[in-house]
Amino acid sequence: MKTYTHHINGEFVPAGTSTTLDVIDPAAESVIARVPDGSRDDVDRAAAAAREAFDAGPWKDTTAQDRGRILFALARIVRERAAELAELETRNTGKPIVEAEFDVVDVATCFEYYGGLATKIHGDVIPVPDNAMSLALREPIGVAGQIIPWNYPLLMAAWKLAPAICAGCTMVLKPAEQTPLTVLELASSFADAGLPPGVVNIVTGAGETGAAIVAHPGVDKIAFTGSAEVGKSIMRGAADTLKKISLELGGKSPNIFFADADFEAAVEGALFGVFFNQGEVCSAGSRILVERPIYGRFVDAIAEKARAIKVGPPLDRETKMGALVSREQFDRVRRYQEIGKREAKLAVGGGAARGAAIDRGYFVEPTIFYDVDNSTRIAREEIFGPVACVIPFDGEEEAVRIANDTYYGLAAAVWTRDIFRAMRTVKNLRAGIVWVNHMQPTYVEAPWGGYKQSGIGRELGKWGVEEYLNVKQVYINLSEQPIGWY
Ligand code: ADP
Repeated sequence: MKTYTHHINGEFVPAGTSTTLDVIDPAAESVIARVPDGSRDDVDRAAAAAREAFDAGPWKDTTAQDRGRILFALARIVRERAAELAELETRNTGKPIVEAEFDVVDVATCFEYYGGLATKIHGDVIPVPDNAMSLALREPIGVAGQIIPWNYPLLMAAWKLAPAICAGCTMVLKPAEQTPLTVLELASSFADAGLPPGVVNIVTGAGETGAAIVAHPGVDKIAFTGSAEVGKSIMRGAADTLKKISLELGGKSPNIFFADADFEAAVEGALFGVFFNQGEVCSAGSRILVERPIYGRFVDAIAEKARAIKVGPPLDRETKMGALVSREQFDRVRRYQEIGKREAKLAVGGGAARGAAIDRGYFVEPTIFYDVDNSTRIAREEIFGPVACVIPFDGEEEAVRIANDTYYGLAAAVWTRDIFRAMRTVKNLRAGIVWVNHMQPTYVEAPWGGYKQSGIGRELGKWGVEEYLNVKQVYINLSEQPIGWY
């Protein structure tokens, strides 16, 4: 069992306090590591290191080419350490190893994308109606505080670190208290990648550590991914120092199936949409909307296929669903399974999952409720686990009305062979990401973020780097004459 420390100013340093947090393997319910529960002083030290690296250099004078090279080096290191990082991710999150391997490839791809983008960020020259020139420069925003969740620990770290490095910011990142290990392991390679001390600082801890980052006067911007509830408290906390914020929050995303959709593809798309990564996905298609003519057959087909999903040990390559991340998350999903039994009809699942290979651990059955009313708690509240609600509808208008009847607006999907209906539905859905005839593919090149209470701002692609940039307007007088006003 390893005891980790914060990574501040290019070094692993002991925390200011001796309070630690246990990190568990949720499939074995055993403690696998300990990390410091970061104090306000620890956050102060990390923020001071980030401030110094930003204000005094050498980061300030690093060229875009240098930053690009560092990002490519990080990508290479992630690829070299892929097997080790994927295994550690699986041990800490409970997700299937095959999925953790995909995640690690995505991490490398994310660093590569922003490595390439670093040299393509530039400002504008604006024609102005005087003998003058106006420039719009793009500058790094400063010190970014980055707070991330536990469902894709290393990937969420990459989504935050890569665009911030690309922009020339420095940062204080706090991983989720449940899953701090992979990013701490990666930190041991920061110097090899050429990152100067103080550019990326990692402080571990729980909510209070996060709140200290949000309140810190030396931090210029907060990027957060997590629950809507915490997102709201971050927005309030950031108000005192008027920090810029970007929030990527929850969802209750509709996955809409019209009767003309390819039936086999639709059945698999419904399951993949909600059960991938144990349903611990902010964009999970947790509301499955099905047009009446295929409704009964569809419910039967997804229930039958869900029953066969292999819930098993996360390191087993045949496993399609692993353990939930923590006891707390297990209890939460179990509670919703029971609420669902009172609110709707149960098609499959509904309990904890146990078997010869999983005699302990936070495993639950893939669960599908049907004849769900969109006003029930299971249809309105984000569960963040493998619990699906199937809701019938009649026609396009009703599908869109039910789909949009949610506080959230992160993602949606529509399945049909009719291009006109597909595009009308896309246009009418209020969500930041809409898939047609698929659900969940995510690309670093394309924007990611929510409408409504699913968030503020966009990550990934050229949009993601904007969140870390300021615009400076520069006026250059080309006339050598006095202004002539007085
Ligand atoms: P989840 O419900 O998925 O656990 P949370 O929104 O609770 O997600 O947590 C996401 C991240 O936010 C974690 O890193 C967590 O430690 C952090 N966090 C929790 N509470 C706060 C808070 N009040 N201020 C800042 N960060 C917080």
